[in-house]
Amino acid sequence: MIRLRDIEKSFSGNPVLRKISLDVRPGAVTALIGPSGSGKSTLLRCLNLLETSDAGQLEFDDVTLRFVKGQALDKAKVLAVRRMTGMVFQNFQLFPHRTAVANVMEGLIVVQKWPTDKARARALALLEKVGLADKAEAWPLTLSGGQQQRVAIARALAASPKLLLCDEPTSALDPELAAEVVDVLAALAREGTTMLIATHDLRLANRMAQHVAFLQDGVVVEEGTPADVFGAPKDGRTIRFVRTLG
Ligand code: ADP
Ligand code: MG
Repeated sequence: MIRLRDIEKSFSGNPVLRKISLDVRPGAVTALIGPSGSGKSTLLRCLNLLETSDAGQLEFDDVTLRFVKGQALDKAKVLAVRRMTGMVFQNFQLFPHRTAVANVMEGLIVVQKWPTDKARARALALLEKVGLADKAEAWPLTLSGGQQQRVAIARALAASPKLLLCDEPTSALDPELAAEVVDVLAALAREGTTMLIATHDLRLANRMAQHVAFLQDGVVVEEGTPADVFGAPKDGRTIRFVRTLG
């Protein structure tokens, strides 16, 4: 189980996350929805410790981190949490000067210190899984956006993370390319991959998630099953958001 409790984060005195608590259930997909600027990306970055929360607590399996502003975190715990998470970004963020397979291998070689042969075999298997076995030696910029994002998903999975974080994984893509990315994510979900997906695509959230949390102004305003949040929203802010985008 992954639990966030009372997470707070400000940037130059502006609160962006205000006492956020959220559980991410193992083997399920949790969708984090909400308008632009509501704090979705910041929450994902606080979860994988790309950002350090100012206050609150993160429990990730047997690792517990308590955040106190100005206080350093236990480095071993930070490393443990980073190793348990993989991240997929809106704009793919592949290394442009590395082939698809080299992108997927990179973390295994640099961080996990795997031998090249073993890393390459794992990377090729992951590219096959995302339907890109034939693009292993392709340069990222020769690939479509959908293909680049599938390489990025393979890369995020390379070190077998316990949690896959996806930050607007389809937002930079035309609908047909978004669909091929959603198909890959849906297949991972069927295999029981634990995912937290930040998205303003309500159809994506509705199709994939077992649990939906609606974030606005750094607060979880409402959460529940997709049927609850989309079908019978209770909070006025959720109702307006679902109506506007639905
Ligand atoms: P979302 O992903 O929901 O669009 P973000 O988490 O990106 O929201 O941003 C929430 C708020 O935090 C925005 O007002 C944004 O400008 C601000 N913010 C995010 N990251 C930073 C940063 N590194 N420095 C200053 N402000 C930031
Ligand atoms: Mg964002």
